[in-house]
Amino acid sequence: MGPRQCLDRIRAGTARGVVQEMKCEDASRLVSEAQDRRLGVHERRSLRLHLWLCLDCRRFLRQIMLLRRALGMMAGRVNTGIQSPGLPYGSRERIRAALAVADGHSR
Ligand SMILES: [Zn+2]
Repeated sequence: MGPRQCLDRIRAGTARGVVQEMKCEDASRLVSEAQDRRLGVHERRSLRLHLWLCLDCRRFLRQIMLLRRALGMMAGRVNTGIQSPGLPYGSRERIRAALAVADGHSR
């Protein structure tokens, strides 16, 4: 097999994995990865399409975002002693309020 064929195979693989139908496995992986890196245009487009069609992955995304907010709040607590400029005061309050709502009990 020459280098030309090899390139075609890579292209076909990329198209199958990202552009065409996305499996929940891939969608959840992208949702996780989106927390750490910026997704490509194709990834975002297929992920959005999948989330639109798939309730399970929408739930997963919501959980990830809640978890992320919770982690951000914990980081904020840890940092209060050092007065890090990480999270502005107002947004910390908003996150706390959002979490209280999500937990189903108010403070
Ligand atoms: Zn899915």
